[in-house]
This record gives sequence, structure tokens and C-alpha cells, in this order.
Amino acid sequence: MTITHSQEAFTKAQELIPGGVNSPVRAFKSVGGIPRFIARGEGAYLIDIDDNAYVDYVQSWGPLIFGHRDESIENAVIDAVKHGLSFGAPTQAESDLASLIISLYDSIEKVRFVSSGTEAVMSAIRLARGFTGRDDIVKFTGCYHGHSDALLVQAGSGAATFGTPSSPGVPADFTKHTLLADYNDIESVKACFASSEGIACVIIEPIAGNMGLVPANKDFLAQVRTLCDEHGALLLFDEVMSGFRACLHGAESITGTKPDLVTLGKVIGGGMPVGAFGGRGDIMAHLSPEGGVYQAGTLSGNPVAMAAGLASLGKLNTNRRIFGVLEARATRLMNGFSDAAKKHNIGLQTDVRGSMFGFFFSDDEVTNFSQALKSDTARFAVFHAAMLEAGFYFACSQFETGFISTAITDTMIEATIDAAEKIFGAL
Ligand SMILES: *Cc1c(COP(=O)(O)O)cnc(C)c1O
Repeated sequence: MTITHSQEAFTKAQELIPGGVNSPVRAFKSVGGIPRFIARGEGAYLIDIDDNAYVDYVQSWGPLIFGHRDESIENAVIDAVKHGLSFGAPTQAESDLASLIISLYDSIEKVRFVSSGTEAVMSAIRLARGFTGRDDIVKFTGCYHGHSDALLVQAGSGAATFGTPSSPGVPADFTKHTLLADYNDIESVKACFASSEGIACVIIEPIAGNMGLVPANKDFLAQVRTLCDEHGALLLFDEVMSGFRACLHGAESITGTKPDLVTLGKVIGGGMPVGAFGGRGDIMAHLSPEGGVYQAGTLSGNPVAMAAGLASLGKLNTNRRIFGVLEARATRLMNGFSDAAKKHNIGLQTDVRGSMFGFFFSDDEVTNFSQALKSDTARFAVFHAAMLEAGFYFACSQFETGFISTAITDTMIEATIDAAEKIFGAL
């Protein structure tokens, strides 16, 4: 495989754009190697500017559940473009997408659209604070909620630590209201409640996808719900990744725990920039202009983005068997990886939720971030490079989730397992 064009393009881009990329993970830093510059996508494949084709298990980090260039999404976008790119005034498409989301999520009575997941979470937290009149929030180590200041925090030592900023440029004052707890550990959440004068909300990825795939335990979520109720705090499910990826009706339908607020993104935009937050009507009523909590956006609810979202969610809604099919394929892939790893004596932990899959090079079960960190990232880097060379595009970090699209066939999955087995054998 030659990648000379990508190599040149990456060198040039680094002179123009910090690190050569517009979002850090794309630079391949944690695995080494040269990021491929993409010319186009076609169904299950990414095609780079050297004309190499890869079976795509990244799907633009989640959004493309129907793969690249899905005909109905593409046509919906082209049709919308012909009516104008943006109006800064309400359109019917916004109500149509809102109505669809509200019909599919029990917990969502009203919804507002924004342009990214980051914006959705930042706004939902402001709303939770405005609604409760409290400042503190609880976040879990290893969960990612976008790059807004208050959420760029890392754990200090001990439970119930007040977060310290994980990035230069974030004042310590901005993260002092962010308390950190351990995923799947209810005692650490209790410690946060015990140490705070008032918690506005607990924010959690109910199916964590940003430390690798680590779903929350059912009982744990139910206990978090109870704690929130006892203390008058809101429960916020960040489903920017898992929403319409794990299933059609949200993590609440899998786990049985209902949140007060939900954030969405990725799949709901069908590949266009869309985020959303929604939830209980009485809480959403506090949002401007109905209520006092300010939130706005020039391109929010953009008609082209809404058209892509409607086409994407509309298809999921009318083809409800899709999630079963995707989950069967994801399971087939992970079972194949597991068997191949066993054969070559390699410790591998795998999991699946709908079209999401994850694997850790580790001998031990992974239920939280510190366990995820014990996995063998050097081994992952070798795996990643060799799979890329073989024509399989996996996320360039051990701590990311993989995705199946409807364009990925069982034959492709078998080929992926064969390639992985060869690599495991050589590890
Ligand atoms: C991707 C993601 C975000 C951030 O969304 P952006 O659109 O990248 O700003 C927030 N929360 C979760 C759970 C995510 O996976």
C-alpha cells in the first residue's frame, strides 16, 4: 500500500493547521503513523487520496449509521440545499425532527437543536443549573462530554475530588464546580453528594463510548437515579454517541433508568453538524425565550442539517429491524476477534451495544476508566497499523468505540476477522 499523497498532504497541513488536523484524535498521535487523507466515501468504504480503500469502522466517529453516500440522505440534503442554505427563521423541518425524536424517547417532551454535541451538553448543564439554582455538577472519570471548559477536568487523588483542568487555558475556577466520580461505583457518587452543598445534575454517558466501550451497570444507574431524586438533582444522560447507535429508544429503554435531560448528536445529524438537548417539559420551559436560561445559535436547526437528520432518523424509524441486524454483525465481529485472540493467547475484552462495539487488549474485565487504562496500548498500536495496511479502518486509539454501518456486510466482517487473526498471530 502506498500512501505518498497522504504523507505529503499531512506534512503540508501541519504547516497550516495546528497538528495538521481540525480535531486532535485525527492526527493518529496515540498509535503513530500517517493519517490518511480522504478523497471520498462510498458505502462501507473510505477511499484515500492514494486511491486505497478501507472498510470503515469509524463512520465519522459515529454519525454515518447508513455508511457513506446513503442515497436517501444525499437526496434529502441536495433537495434542501436547493431551497436555501440558512434562513435564521423557523422552518417546518425543525418541528418534524423534534416530533420524531420526542416520539422515540420516553424522557424527551421538548427538544432544542444546536450544531454540535459540545454545545448540546454545555447548554443542557446551564439549563440544569438554571432550573435547580445550584452550581455543582457530577461527572465520571473517562466520560467525554465535549470540549467546554467546565467539562475538561481530570481526577485528582481520592474520591469526590473537585476536578482540576485537564487542559491549559481552563481556569481552575471554571472547573471547581465539577465533581468527579468513578464509573460504575455508587460509593464515589455518594461521596460527591456528601461533599457538596448543592448538585444541579449528574451527567453520565449511560453507555460510555469515550474510554472504549464501557456500558454502565443497570443497578448502578438505578442507584444514581435514586440519589439524584433524594437530593433534588437532575440526571443527564449524554447520548451524543449512543443515541440511535445502541437502539432506537435511548439507553433508558435498555437500562430501565429514565433521565431528566438527554443530549444527542452524531447520528441525529446524518453526517451534518447537529446536536440536541431535550427532556422534561417543565425543565425545558426554563429555556429562553420561554424562560430565563439563555441559549442561542445563528445556524441552530439549520435546514440542510435538519434534512439530513430527518432522512437518517426517518429511515431508522421505519426500518426498526436495523438495530437487530447491526447488533448481530457487531457481535459476529467481536466474537470472531475473541476466538482469534484466544487461539493466540492474547487477552482481549470485548463488548457490543447495538451497532457499537469495543475491545480492550487486557486480561481483565473493564468496567471503569482506571481499568481501561491498564490495557496494552502498544499492542493496540501494532494492531491498528497492520489492520490499516490490510484495508480496515479502525479508530486510532484503544479508547474509542467502533461502529457498524448498514453498508458493512457479513463477508466484510469475516474478512476483517481473518485479517485480525493473522495480526494476533504475529503479536
Ligand atoms: C462526540 C461526543 C460529544 C461531543 O460532540 P461534538 O459534536 O464532537 O462536539 C459529547 N458527548 C459525547 C458522549 C460524545 O461522544
